[in-house]
Order: sequence, then structure tokens, then C-alpha cells
Amino acid sequence: MENKSLYDLSDKDVSRLFYDNVGAIVVVDSEIDTYKTIVKRGFFKAFLNDSGSYHDLILDLWFHFNDSNEKVAGDYQIFADNTGVFKNKYSRRLRVALEDENESHLIQLTVYPYEEGKKYIFIMDEFNDNESLQESLTTKKINTIQNSYLFSMYIDLVSDTTSSINVAEISEDVVNYNLKYSEWRMMIVNMFLPEDQEQFLRRTDPEYLKKNFTPGRTSSYDCMMRNLEGKFIWVKLIFSRAQTFSEDDYRFVFLVQDNNESTMEVLSTLQKYEEKAIKDPLTNVYNHGEIEAQFNSALAYCQKSGSPVSLMMIDLDHFKEVNDNYGHSVGDITLKQFAGILREFAAENKIMAGRWGGEEFVVVCRDKNIDEAGRLAEEFRARVDAFEFPTIIHISCSVGVTELKADDDNTKAFNRVDEALYASKQAGRNKVTVK
Ligand code: GH3
Ligand code: MG
Ligand code: MG
Repeated sequence: MENKSLYDLSDKDVSRLFYDNVGAIVVVDSEIDTYKTIVKRGFFKAFLNDSGSYHDLILDLWFHFNDSNEKVAGDYQIFADNTGVFKNKYSRRLRVALEDENESHLIQLTVYPYEEGKKYIFIMDEFNDNESLQESLTTKKINTIQNSYLFSMYIDLVSDTTSSINVAEISEDVVNYNLKYSEWRMMIVNMFLPEDQEQFLRRTDPEYLKKNFTPGRTSSYDCMMRNLEGKFIWVKLIFSRAQTFSEDDYRFVFLVQDNNESTMEVLSTLQKYEEKAIKDPLTNVYNHGEIEAQFNSALAYCQKSGSPVSLMMIDLDHFKEVNDNYGHSVGDITLKQFAGILREFAAENKIMAGRWGGEEFVVVCRDKNIDEAGRLAEEFRARVDAFEFPTIIHISCSVGVTELKADDDNTKAFNRVDEALYASKQAGRNKVTVK
């Protein structure tokens, strides 16, 4: 194989090359809590057993102190089972250490799920350029801990979910553990001093939060909580209800902060955090989750109050050609520019716009019937049609519009608006169809 030219390499040769060069390959069957090591070399010879419990592997990879193999307090290990669940490909850097070594190792881990996320391939490699990476990671970590919170999380009381959980001292990553809020409360309560537990349960009760927080309201209280080492420290627990237009939408940011940090820092962190959780980073309009939540609450509002609500679906025409002809980065710039027009239009007309995915956008129009929404859609289509974009100069969009009906659910409404959009495409694009 050594003498083969690039052009002669087959998939088998490449598998072989990969096999000979990678630090470790581990296969996992999460249903029987077992992993098996297929390849290990270098540091991984000492770090991995030939086979073992998957749960223990997760603890070894995640739930220890960064610079030693000492495990974090048991209370934090409750997140381990949820950490080992991967629906999609996943990749990150981890710091791990061997029992009898002072120095820790920086590794890159990539997880490939197969068989519907029940089995995984773990690919691991160690970084050689340890020193420079260590330095940059340490600085980053100090900044994280100094400037922000020990623990943060996003909560939706209506769907009883938590998301974007981050334990800053374990990792800078935000992880979605798929924990129900109600389950999380009952788990976390054990991290507090026994005499503080009743107060914690009272103040985290969904009914209490709903009753006592108007949109945008922040409230905090101090108590003692176990830290990663298992010691009780004084922390500030902060709940902040998201700023929302809807009465029946109860989303909160929950933060645990070291008591000494200044209030101003907390508030700006909060704001950034909320912003991050609901905005699409490329286009700065609402992300898929947020616009869908907005839609669902508008649907409930329409069915409760009888006020009209309309829905638009907008798709850029022949957008693939922008990428093909000018490259992906011009495609991105075009998307940003388009979203800028949409943001401005939405603000002018008090409607909510979000990115549904790719080059597709959804607009939720409260208190607008089909005629008003149709007119707005036409005005927006014309505005995009007349806009002079950088580089590509011109692009058009197609729009589908529908008004919600009393017996609609999420699926019915989106099917209808999809059909309307499809009809605009069929009719030659750069059109609005009302259905
Ligand atoms: P149609 O008029 O039928 O909608 O044609 P189209 O080319 O717009 O539709 P198609 O669904 O075939 O292609 C959409 C393209 O959008 C393909 C994908 O590469 C591109 N795209 C999706 N998301 C992004 C993104 O975030 N950035 C860039 N640059 N391109 C994206
Ligand atoms: Mg398109
Ligand atoms: Mg599309």
C-alpha cells in the first residue's frame, strides 16, 4: 500500500490507513451498557480497557476534575446517563488523566451513532501540542468561571423541559441532557443543605414560578449548595422569566452564581444567554425552536380568544445557484442580508420572523386575518424583489400564506402553508399564494 499513488487508493486501503493511525476506536452498545475497544495505541493503551461498562467510560471521560482523574461529587454524576446519549454525530475536546500520572491529556473525541442512536462508534485521538493548548484552555476556563456562572440552564414550564444545561466547571460546552424539568428539580434538590431543601422546592414549583414572575422578571435568593468537590458553598440562585409577548408562555433561565459576583455582570450574562438560546446565529432572526414555540402559543391564543392569526412560509428562489455560482460564503452573506430585510419588515408590522432551516423562513402574524397577511406577504415579496443585494444583485422569494382555523393543530397548519408555498414555486416563483 505504501507505494500506491493517491489515485489508486481504494476504500479498503483508506480504512486500513485510518485503522493504523487513529488513537483509539471503541464500539458501544448502550442498551447493554457495554463498550469494546477495537484499537488503542499510545495513551489510550493505559486509559481504555479491552471492554467494560459504558457508564464507567462516560464517568472517566467527563465527570472528573480537568487536571486529575479524581471524580466530581456524586450529585453531579446524575447527569452521566444523559451525557452518554447521542442522537447525532458529536465531537469535542476533553481533558482526561490516568490514575498515577500528574499530567492530564487533551483528547479529541468524535461519536458516530448508528442503529437509531443505541450503538456508537467512539473515535479518539490525543493532541500532541499539549502545552499551547493547555495554556489557551486554562485562560478560557478562568475567564468563564470569573465572568459568569457555575451552572446554567434553560427551562420551559409548559413543555416541562430543560435545555442548554451547562456546568461551567466541568466543561465550557452547553449540553442538552433531555431532562424533564420536574425530574431535574427532584434530582437537584439533594445538592442543597437539608434545611434549604424545602425552600428550594417551593421556589422552583412550576405554579409558584408562573404566579410570581411577569415576563422579563428576574429574582434570586442565596443558599448553600454542594460544589463539584462536594463542599457546601454560598451561591445565588437566579430565575429569570423570558421576555415574551404571550401570557401562556413560561420560559426561564436558571443560573447558579458564585455569591461574590457583581449584579451587573449577572444581568448582562443573562441577557446574552437568553439571546443565544432563542436566536439563529447566522441570521439573527428567531431560531427554529423559538419560532415554533411562538407559533404554538399564537395557535392557543387564536383558539382561546377567537382573534385571527396567520402564518407565512418564505423560501428563497434558486438559492442553490447562489452557492454554486458564487460560493458558500456569498450564500451566507445573502442569507444574512435577506434576514435583515425580514427583521426590519417584521418589526415594522409587529409580526414574528424565524429561520425554519436552510433558506426557509416562517412568520407568525398575530391579529392578522388572511387578507391582511396576504397583503403583507406581497409587500415583503416586492421589497425583496426590488432590493439590490451585494455581489448577486438580485434574488427573489416565494411565499405561502394561511390563516389558522379553529380545528387546526400544528401539523395541519404547517401542511397548508407548505402547500401554498409549493404552489408559488409551481407558478414560476417570486409569487405569493394564499390558501
Ligand atoms: P427553489 O427555488 O426550488 O427553492 O430552489 P433552491 O435552489 O432554493 O432550493 P434547494 O432546496 O434545491 O436548495 C437550497 C439550498 O440552500 C441548498 C443548500 O446548500 C443551501 N443552503 C441551506 N442553508 C444554507 C446556509 O446556511 N448557507 C448557505 N450558503 N447555503 C445554504
Ligand atoms: Mg429555495
Ligand atoms: Mg428550501
